[in-house]
Amino acid sequence: MSTRRAFIKKSGLTAGGLATATVLGGSMLPGGMSQSESQQGAKGLKITKMFADPINYEMEPFPIALGVMTNLDNAFVRIVLENGIEGYGEAAPIMTINGENQQTILGTLNSCREFIVGQDINNYRSIAYTLKSAFWAQSAARCAIEMALLDAYTKTLGIPFYRLLGGTETKIETDYTIAIVPAEEAKRQAIKLASEGFRIIKTKVGVNMKEDIDRVLAIKDGAPECGLLIDANQGYNPKTALRFINEVVKHDIYPVMFEQPVLKSDLAGMKYVRDNTEILVGADESVFTRADAINVVRTGCADAINIKLMKSCIIEALDIAAVARSANLKLMIGCMVETNLALACAVHFAAGVGGFDFIDLDPSFDATQCPVKGGPVYSPPYWTIGQGAGLGFTGRQ
Ligand code: MN
Repeated sequence: MSTRRAFIKKSGLTAGGLATATVLGGSMLPGGMSQSESQQGAKGLKITKMFADPINYEMEPFPIALGVMTNLDNAFVRIVLENGIEGYGEAAPIMTINGENQQTILGTLNSCREFIVGQDINNYRSIAYTLKSAFWAQSAARCAIEMALLDAYTKTLGIPFYRLLGGTETKIETDYTIAIVPAEEAKRQAIKLASEGFRIIKTKVGVNMKEDIDRVLAIKDGAPECGLLIDANQGYNPKTALRFINEVVKHDIYPVMFEQPVLKSDLAGMKYVRDNTEILVGADESVFTRADAINVVRTGCADAINIKLMKSCIIEALDIAAVARSANLKLMIGCMVETNLALACAVHFAAGVGGFDFIDLDPSFDATQCPVKGGPVYSPPYWTIGQGAGLGFTGRQ
């Protein structure tokens, strides 16, 4: 028996127990459902099966400061309820960000199955809390489970997921990211993106400052009307980060944001950058949890937080958004290397929660390269959510 499974049992944190103690699910129930109906529902909808399978695709090499991504190596989760409704989820690890890979994710998912099967879907929130208490470091794996739970739950209610979150928006606009590529190539891509209608171009920096500056200038040259979002993925130290951004500004380029300029643990260094430039500084890798978000607020090291469901999972992302909003920080949503399944969840999240100033949900794969069919439709630079229940997917393809 795995020690984590033993932990869940020993800890006594049964999902039902937590829900009773905190009534956490209650506030998430949509209006119009009577107390007795909701309690009736809460009694009777068990998860009967959970499946976890690998998803593998090759992709165009995508270099960032943390390394070169060459493959999508994710996991697909499917849960089945006793009424036959299925919920779908995806885990998308990036080893250098999450500390997870496909093998650790499949291992975690298989370790969770015994706990998940038999649970009541209505307790999705406390199931998520229990999983976090045991598998706190496996956020992408847990995210896939939360995604499948919330997909199944909202399908049971007969509403799209974004409506559970309180949203009415069905269309969101994304930026598109140019990797660490030579300046001429970046310019070529920028011209193409501008012609496709993108209004914000994001680019990666943080390996070689001279080449980074050249790339930024080339993108601005190719797409002068587009806003520019710059992401260093922790690649600079505080002083080089400041030198870089000052140099960019010297060329009369004012990026809409400078994301994660320094090491994720160096909040003081990030504050130094923020205090010395007028460009907005964003925290991405520095924020996995709501506690991390509070630390960003306390230290005053950033103007914005980039939420990614694979870092924080879905339930906790709601808390991070609340912290950011409370502290008057701007909100961004981003993604890992994901198929349309995980991207759909982020699209619903952004549309449902609302108030996101920066949306970085650019797909690297098309809708046919997704374990399930249907879902929000991508027509650059927009995602449009249909009226299908859950995340909008209708079955495997
Ligand atoms: Mn980032």
